[in-house]
Amino acid sequence: MRTYFIAGNWKMHKTRSEAAELAKALVSQLKDGKHKYLVAPSFTALETVGNIVAGTNIMLGAQNMAAEEQGAHTGEVSVLQLKDLGVQAVILGHSERRHIYKEDDELINKKVRLALKHGLEVILCVGELLEEREAGKAEAVCETQTVKGLEGVSAEDLKRVTIAYEPVWAIGTGKTATPEDADAIHAYIRKVIGKLYGEAAAKAMCIQYGGSVKPENAAQLMAKANIDGALVGGAALKAETFVPIAKFA
Ligand code: PEP
Repeated sequence: MRTYFIAGNWKMHKTRSEAAELAKALVSQLKDGKHKYLVAPSFTALETVGNIVAGTNIMLGAQNMAAEEQGAHTGEVSVLQLKDLGVQAVILGHSERRHIYKEDDELINKKVRLALKHGLEVILCVGELLEEREAGKAEAVCETQTVKGLEGVSAEDLKRVTIAYEPVWAIGTGKTATPEDADAIHAYIRKVIGKLYGEAAAKAMCIQYGGSVKPENAAQLMAKANIDGALVGGAALKAETFVPIAKFA
């Protein structure tokens, strides 16, 4: 049985006081929630939010990290610094990192392996652009990003990896993949995991959907056999929209 995993990516939003206000609301409103939860604030609010969610059922996540442990990397944040703040998981390969900041599969894989080496959980994002979907390449793109992203990851470490399928054309656009289309890609990714790690690992793999998840569509998406949770952007910025997703019926 896979556990539903609902994560909120706050992106480059919220000052520390705004982040604290949202974190406090989530702690109180999700304390009876039945699923696995995570919030990923900006680096600047990690400590503030970490102090609020510590000891609750909400994990603390970061939105990115450097591919090196430490050194001359101006402007980067290392896994050691994240761990020092109590961070438990990191989102890697988000489409904004891939497409705006030109992170490639090789760099993302380096980060994945480093995060796992230091005991973090990883949410590895994969997903196709609109032109790739229209060219019939959605499965191939997701397969490549999954295979390359997981290169060198052991079966044991894979237990700390969640894959987030986020079709790029659905992120922040209000367009959601239909539950059927999303489920088909999730099933394909699960097949890829099966080829790499075997049937049991494929069955156990948590695959989140991301792309304009809202209170109105969360339950329909989550009802699909291969959709095990959500990575939420815009709707994660307010308790009144994140909580109904997190507590989808
Ligand atoms: C995201 O950025 O991971 C995301 C899914 O954003 P949104 O929910 O706003 O589409």
